[in-house]
Amino acid sequence: MTMTSFLERLHPGYGQHFAIDEVLFEQVTAHQQLVIFRNATFGRVMALDGIVQTTERDEFIYHEMLTHVPILAHGAARRVLIIGGGDGGILREVLRHAQVERVVQVEIDAAVIEMCKRYLPNHSAGAFDDPRAQIVIADGIDYLRQCDERYDVIISDCTDPVGPGEVLFSSEFYAGCRRCLNPAGVFVAQNGVAFLQLDEVVTTRERLGPWFADQTFYQAAVPTYAGGLMAFAWGCDDPAVRQIPLPELERRYRASELCTRYYNPQIHAGCFALPQYLLDALAARCGG
Ligand code: SAM
Repeated sequence: MTMTSFLERLHPGYGQHFAIDEVLFEQVTAHQQLVIFRNATFGRVMALDGIVQTTERDEFIYHEMLTHVPILAHGAARRVLIIGGGDGGILREVLRHAQVERVVQVEIDAAVIEMCKRYLPNHSAGAFDDPRAQIVIADGIDYLRQCDERYDVIISDCTDPVGPGEVLFSSEFYAGCRRCLNPAGVFVAQNGVAFLQLDEVVTTRERLGPWFADQTFYQAAVPTYAGGLMAFAWGCDDPAVRQIPLPELERRYRASELCTRYYNPQIHAGCFALPQYLLDALAARCGG
């Protein structure tokens, strides 16, 4: 039967719908169900286990915010670790920083990389072939258990905490990331849409909070992560890294020569402001 309609089933009793104009690829890989289809509004869409991962039209928002906020806040990131990110969008944005010397990307499912290279080529835009990038096919938690390298920024661009992505929201994973960060290093991760996945955000505070002196969240609205603001988890052992004054952010942004479509220094300075319902939930469960 030809799929003509995609209904996301991430949330009980609620989901976004995409008309499918053409199924470009579909496979049950060793780890998850992968589908890439074309939709008139969002272009090519990739979903894993029935959950939208990325679309051609709005991917720039997520990928710019999950890379440029930690890298420009750090100010001198040379070694970056990406966990997940099989579509290549995070890798593409990280490599736009000329001072980054080495990027290791640990992706559990080689099929995601291969199919995204073929059907979503603008996501990676050649990044997988950059000599600074090393691609490791492994479970992110296994990589961290044996990792003896140290990084300035660690980005967890994983699926939601179901299936293979679940371990990437565990205390063990966060402890491993903390161990593999250099002093003043920054950990960031996608943490779902706070309005609909509030418990996941609070749980991250409970599990990630003990490992970092400065643990909080920042936000951006990504249209196809339906339900409102997407929360990004932040962890750093130096609170000053998150409090870079706006003029310095503007200087770093100009010096980076980045040409962005969502990120700018003002967005960076403002994105750590969180809605009251989220602050109240964090205070109720975790004391603030
Ligand atoms: N932007 C998306 C989001 O916010 O949900 C994430 C996109 S990216 C495609 C998610 C990637 O995480 C996938 O390529 C998936 O294969 C990978 N992944 C899931 N569990 C993993 C694990 N335990 N170790 C490494 N990669 C994993």
